Amino acid sequence: MSANLHRALDAAIPMLKTIRQGVKAPPKASSAALEKLRQLARAIPPAPQSAQVHEPAEKSAPAPAPEPSEGWTMDSLRTAVLACEKCPHLVTSRTQVVFGVGNPEADLVFVGEAPGADEDEQGEPFVGLAGQLQTKIILAMGFQREDVFIANVLKCRPDMPSGASGNRKPKSAEMATCLPWLSEQIALVKPRVIVALGAVAAEGLLGLTSPLRDLRGRWHEFQGIPVMITYHPAYLLRNQSLSEKRKVWEDMLLVLEKLGKKITAKQRAFFTAPA
Ligand code: SF4
Repeated sequence: MSANLHRALDAAIPMLKTIRQGVKAPPKASSAALEKLRQLARAIPPAPQSAQVHEPAEKSAPAPAPEPSEGWTMDSLRTAVLACEKCPHLVTSRTQVVFGVGNPEADLVFVGEAPGADEDEQGEPFVGLAGQLQTKIILAMGFQREDVFIANVLKCRPDMPSGASGNRKPKSAEMATCLPWLSEQIALVKPRVIVALGAVAAEGLLGLTSPLRDLRGRWHEFQGIPVMITYHPAYLLRNQSLSEKRKVWEDMLLVLEKLGKKITAKQRAFFTAPA
């Protein structure tokens, strides 16, 4: 510290103390005196970089996850999502983050709710029994699985009580925390149509909580992109009736029409009751 600064501080500190104690009225200074102080301040050289004081880093706190923002590539987004620690309870329980798979320039994006045990283990969405059925639906639509992009609203498997098996639904707050990542994925892929699979995905993506029967079969919107809501394939595994399969298929026919895909007579007739 320079001698000039020492002198200025020596003069100022006692005066500030007395002001704080209310003993003296605030000092008055002439414009000439103020100019002299400014000259003194300008004469003080900046402290060298090595001498600057830094707050000690918090060693125990994890680095905050980068906030979704513009400027991502799919690779940089993947790196950020795989390192995300916004939900400490899911970070502790997850095997891995399930980012999403498929064509990064797909016309069609399927959105599920969250990874289950199989997805958590394999790091890929829709790979369990329900995922296999979803893949069959994709094939019946005339796509390969690699043609579309598949992701969940929640990227980490919802934690389960110790010793419990199965999967639990993601909570609204968990989905709201993770939604910005999906939003960035969709902004990068720029699909022409999104399909939300099940009521939980519809809630996570669009905030809609009406019964699925009231939401399906018509168009909604996310980021200006048409969204079709339909039943989750797990629902079709539980309810194998022809009529429920047909409802999902009718929703997929609407998707194909929206994409301008040619629909064959065979496709139109899927899951209709025999005459
Ligand atoms: S669920 Fe989403 S927001 Fe939460 S830790 Fe996993 S990636 Fe991050």
